[in-house]
Amino acid sequence: MTSSVKLPAYLSGGPKKLLIGAEWLEALSGETFPTLNPSTGETVGHLALGDARDIDRAVKAARAAFEGPWSRFKPSERQRVLLRLADLVEQQTQDLALIDTLEMGRPISDSVRVVAIVVRGLRYFAGAGLCIHGKTLLNSYPMEEQSYTLKEPVGVVGAIIPWNGPLFSAAWKIAPALATGCTVVLKPAEDGSLTPLRFAELCLEAGAPPGVVNVVTGFGAAGAALSEHPGVDKISFTGSCETGQKIIRASAGSVKKVTMELGGKSPNIVFADADLDAAVAGSANAVFSNCGQVCSAGTRLFVERGVYDEFIERVADVGRRLRVGISTDPATQLGPIVSQRQLERVTSYLRLGVEEGARVVSGGTRLTEGALAKGNFVAPTVFSNVQDTMRIAQEEIFGPVICALPFEGVDEVIARANDTRFGLAAGVWTRDITKAHRAIKRIRAGSVWVNQYQVMDPNVPFGGYKMSGYGREGGMEHLESYLNTKGVWIRTE
Ligand code: NAP
Ligand code: MG
Repeated sequence: MTSSVKLPAYLSGGPKKLLIGAEWLEALSGETFPTLNPSTGETVGHLALGDARDIDRAVKAARAAFEGPWSRFKPSERQRVLLRLADLVEQQTQDLALIDTLEMGRPISDSVRVVAIVVRGLRYFAGAGLCIHGKTLLNSYPMEEQSYTLKEPVGVVGAIIPWNGPLFSAAWKIAPALATGCTVVLKPAEDGSLTPLRFAELCLEAGAPPGVVNVVTGFGAAGAALSEHPGVDKISFTGSCETGQKIIRASAGSVKKVTMELGGKSPNIVFADADLDAAVAGSANAVFSNCGQVCSAGTRLFVERGVYDEFIERVADVGRRLRVGISTDPATQLGPIVSQRQLERVTSYLRLGVEEGARVVSGGTRLTEGALAKGNFVAPTVFSNVQDTMRIAQEEIFGPVICALPFEGVDEVIARANDTRFGLAAGVWTRDITKAHRAIKRIRAGSVWVNQYQVMDPNVPFGGYKMSGYGREGGMEHLESYLNTKGVWIRTE
């Protein structure tokens, strides 16, 4: 319970303000809004309600920094900022983890793990920023004509992020900007703004000049204003497909670069020859981790017919045994759904599944017993008797809900796995390397995990095929998306 844990000092004091330049400012609206703990319904803090006018102020600050002192930072100086930032985040692991846990409900043990991933990412981008390079290019003019490419930061980046990993998403947008020399205006999700604000504060402390990182909290309207602002050169978005489409349309007015990390309905395919013990644990974790609020969750669980019944029962049993609880409790394995609104969305899909004719193997309901009474808790759920065409098998639920589907052979399962508008990720469990390779090549998704699920590394690109988006995060492709390429010609004759 919130009252039984020692709150980080950061959460005391008045409402959090907007970070514009190096100043903490109230929103011009003068308004604030509360952000709640989904385990208890208690208020964790208040945030400034920024709008288009605040976005405009932040974009101007970001432009001034881009053209001013930040443009004179050498790559090694930017690296030093990132390395200091990594140290600061590492030193404050417990507080940052606790703030994410209080605001969006990820179990505390998992939040601590995520901070470690963020630290690793910051150190990766610190190194990667030194490796940016152009090319000397051949041309067919006389020998005296030289041509080469220069890599330059795109400029002001508008970053819009969801609530399911506030610190992680903020870091994954800001770190490449720091590595390449861009500046950022970040619009965090209304349900996950506290760690992004704290992270931005640490960026200043680490030596980022005023205006390099700006944060405007608020609702979707602030994100919309950022998407259409003519002073923004690129939008980097993570969130739902529907919002992504709005942002693409809004960005067209000034022909911004856009990268889109959108949703998924990822297939997780278990062949009968797999190490089934590992596959059971991995398949449950592929959906129940972070209460299913993971874009790449393996929510369509395809299991080969011969082992289907036993396998599904075992996965359901993992769900039944998970310790569902208040997310600040170190023993909790499954926390709450982020908000009342998302809870309603998830429970509406639980009802829909039954209406569509799926069978509830485990879970299927909201949990309100004892300590869970005031939170947004849902039992880990496994549906069987699911048909590919059901809405629960096609739409992103974003909760701890597995749709189990039996299959007969490789060709059939690949065709069905690809029969979705999304293409973010996929899992394949088999001991047969030939089968694994066939699946890897034919699955239309941006990540494929074999005999595991959801591993991530800052050097390995992550992103979507089809309506799961475009652009990659992680690896040098991520940095590339923050860079322009300039072709240079020099006549030396
Ligand atoms: P969302 O509704 O799309 O919101 C994402 C962000 O966009 C929030 O900051 C939101 O602000 C803002 N926003 C809302 N309307 C906007 C508009 N018209 N223009 C610009 N920005 C706007 O998504 P969510 O509910 O926060 O997150 C869940 C979704 O994100 C799921 O679909 C999930 O799959 C996806 N996701 C994808 C990835 C990935 O890497 N591919 C990672 C995480 C999540 P408010 O919070 O104020 O509404
Ligand atoms: Mg909240």
